[in-house]
Amino acid sequence: MKVKDLTPRVLMGPGPSDAHPRVLRAMASPLIGHLDPEFIAMMDDVKSMIQQTMLTKNNLTFLVSAPGSAGMETCLVNLLEPGDECIICINGVFGGRMADIAERCGAKVHKVITPWGEVTTVEQVKKALDACPKPKLVALVHAETSTGALQPIPEISDLVHNAGSLLVVDAVTSYCGVPLKVDEWNIDAIYSGTQKNLSAPPGLSPVSFSDAAVKVLDNRKTKVQSWFLDLTMVKNYWAGAKRAYHHTGPVSSVFAISEALTLVLEEGLENRWKRHYTVHNYLKNQLESMGFRYLVNEENRLPNLNSVFLPEGQDEALLRNRLLNEFNIEVGGGLGDFAGKIWRIGIMGESCTFNHVNMLVGALKQML
Ligand SMILES: *Cc1c(COP(=O)(O)O)cnc(C)c1O
Repeated sequence: MKVKDLTPRVLMGPGPSDAHPRVLRAMASPLIGHLDPEFIAMMDDVKSMIQQTMLTKNNLTFLVSAPGSAGMETCLVNLLEPGDECIICINGVFGGRMADIAERCGAKVHKVITPWGEVTTVEQVKKALDACPKPKLVALVHAETSTGALQPIPEISDLVHNAGSLLVVDAVTSYCGVPLKVDEWNIDAIYSGTQKNLSAPPGLSPVSFSDAAVKVLDNRKTKVQSWFLDLTMVKNYWAGAKRAYHHTGPVSSVFAISEALTLVLEEGLENRWKRHYTVHNYLKNQLESMGFRYLVNEENRLPNLNSVFLPEGQDEALLRNRLLNEFNIEVGGGLGDFAGKIWRIGIMGESCTFNHVNMLVGALKQML
C-alpha cells in the first residue's frame, strides 16, 4: 500500500481522531533545524499552551517525543525506584499497563481492581491505603478508553495527599475533551496524548510534573532505568534558550501540536468541553433509539468515548467492517471481555461534530 492509494476515512474510533486542515498544513511546513532559535521559541510557546490547557502552572511541563504510552512510562520510571511501594487502580486496559510498567521499575505494586466499565471508589482507595499506608504514588486513569468510564479525581486526590503520596493520572483521553484541572485537583504527574481530543497526529505525549514530583525526582538514589525518558536530562532539553541537545526533536509533529493547541485555545477550553457533551447527548439519543445500550452507567460515562452494546442479534464485526468498507467510517471494537460485544465510538476533537454523528447514524440506519 502506498500513501497515494489510501482511502480517506472518517475517524470515530478510540483514536486517532480527524485532524483539522490547519494541523495537516502545519505538518507539511518545510523543516527547520531542531536547534534553530525559531524552533526553540516554538517549544516555549507549546509548553505555555500545554500549561494553559492543562490548567497548571507546573514549570516541568513538556512533550515526550513518543506516544501516550511513553508519557505513562515517563511518569512511572522517573518517580519509582526499585523497592518503592505504589497503588495502581485498574478498571481497564490502561490501568493494567501502568501496573506492568511499575513492576518493571522494581516497585511493589498494590493493585486496586474494579470491574471493567466501573470506576474506582473512594472506599477502595481508603482500603488500599490501610494496607499500604505510605505509598510513593497512587495512579489512576481519568478516562479509561477501553471502557468509556470517567473517573472522579478530587476526593481521591485528597486521600492520596493526606497519606503523603503523589497522585499520577492518565489523561490521554480526557485532556481537551472533558474538565481536567491539574492544579486545582493537585495532580502530581500527568500524561496525555495528541491523537484523541487534541486531534493532532499520534506520536507525542504532553506531560506535566508538580514541584512535589520534581522534588522526588531530584532526591532519587538510583539512576532512572530508561536513558531516553530520564527527566533529569530531558528537563534541560525543555529549558528555553539554555536548551541542551538530548535527541532530535520531531519538528513536524511539534508544528502539528502547536497548531492543534492554538485551535483549542481559539475555541476556548470550556466551550470545547461543552461541545463534547452536547454532541454526546445527540449521539446517545440516536443510538438508544436504534437499540444500542451503554456499557457505563450515566453518572460515570465519558462523553467522547461511547461504549455501547449493539442491538439484539447484530453481528458486531460484520457491521463494523461494512461501516469501514462501504462508508469509510471507523469505529472501535471492544477489548478484553468486551471483544466482540461492544463498539467504542469516539467523538473526539475534530471528530466531535453533528455532521460526524449524522454520517454514522445515517450509515447505521441504512444497514440495520
Ligand atoms: C490511547 C491511550 C493510551 C496510550 O496512548 P498511545 O498514544 O496509544 O501510546 C494510554 N492511556 C489511555 C487512557 C489511552 O486512551
